[in-house]
Amino acid sequence: MNIDEELRKRICKKCDFYKEGERLECGAYKISKKLVENGKISLEDL
Ligand code: SF4
Repeated sequence: MNIDEELRKRICKKCDFYKEGERLECGAYKISKKLVENGKISLEDL
């Protein structure tokens, strides 16, 4: 599973704004992705 799929599963599916199949990236999503990519947090931290 790639990082985007992991983020959708770990963040978006718990979000009130989530719609199946939608691929928008809000600020929280982008910041979370950057933090994971930079090694500041792990996917397990989300
Ligand atoms: S991108 Fe942001 S607003 Fe959209 S579902 Fe994911 S967390 Fe929610």
